Amino acid sequence: DRLITSAFTEEDVTSEYSLRPARISEYIGQEKVKDNLKVFIQAAKLREESLDHVILHGPPGLGKTTLANIIATEMGGSLKITSGPAIERAGDLASILTSLNDRDVLFIDEIHRLSRTVEEILYPAMEDYSLDIVIGKGGQAKSIRLDLSRFTLIGATTRIGLLTSPLRDRFGVQLSMEYYTDEELKEIIVRSAGILHFEISEDGAYCIARRSRGTPRIANRLLKRVRDFAQVKGKSIIDEETAMEALKRLDVDDEGFDRIDRKILEAIVHHFKGGPVGAETLSFFIGEELDTIVDVYEPYLLQKGFIMRTPRGRVATDRAYHHLGVSRDSSEGS
Ligand code: ADP
Repeated sequence: DRLITSAFTEEDVTSEYSLRPARISEYIGQEKVKDNLKVFIQAAKLREESLDHVILHGPPGLGKTTLANIIATEMGGSLKITSGPAIERAGDLASILTSLNDRDVLFIDEIHRLSRTVEEILYPAMEDYSLDIVIGKGGQAKSIRLDLSRFTLIGATTRIGLLTSPLRDRFGVQLSMEYYTDEELKEIIVRSAGILHFEISEDGAYCIARRSRGTPRIANRLLKRVRDFAQVKGKSIIDEETAMEALKRLDVDDEGFDRIDRKILEAIVHHFKGGPVGAETLSFFIGEELDTIVDVYEPYLLQKGFIMRTPRGRVATDRAYHHLGVSRDSSEGS
């Protein structure tokens, strides 16, 4: 039950729907991604074709599903959402593919986790909109080819490096999502507060934005928790003071780090004497899943310059030492 996780929680499922921008004009930030998409969408519409397949790459909670939904709306199709681990057998994917109509969008989250046999079904589906299925067994087995509708596949992945090259090459559009700026997150928070019908000051919104790890999902989640505090305290508006106090009680520090971030930094600095340390060793040492560390925690710590990646593993930077309030010499000597 962690606040900082950018993975999906039960509460998100209910609120995500209402907070999710429905049109590209409501989608804040990711200017480069949006500019590109607008051109591709317009061109596809002019040609009366479906949009080319899109791969979205970036950490969880940055708005990949939201974007897929917007693309489907803009193209006039509907969205079907699934994920790599959810598609166990080739037949599962075949039945999803045959249910699609022209201009529909199939969103496959964590597409790097598709099994090889399932992935191979996708190749002809993406390339020629066709599906090869085998009917019967042994000597009687027959392969038949089915035509599929002109759909758009949107794949999302936190780790583009894990995609096989045949799969990657079949995406005509490759877009990389960036962490949001504090300013953009502030806008998202103000927008969400409006939708949830409560007041927040610019300072209050900025205060939460700065601690949201560049991630809209975390921003929305912190906002809701801060609202709880404000309500209990009988405040009608979330100002900076209320936000600060609430965030402190939630154990979110000035950088937006939580217990796990601090554990990671402390482990590298104290136990591994500043590093280098491999991700596996780190995950074992702090008792946190490797994927969570590599997909969620590390990218942000790297981007903020608290750790660096070297061929031999992660090392702590001066910023990390400073944040923990230890000097390099004293920790290395211990
Ligand atoms: P991902 O698929 O990358 O994990 P989501 O699309 O589920 O992320 O986004 C998480 C939540 O963050 C959404 O419900 C939405 O409310 C919010 N969000 C994401 N991107 C934006 C954006 N650009 N503008 C406003 N809200 C956003």
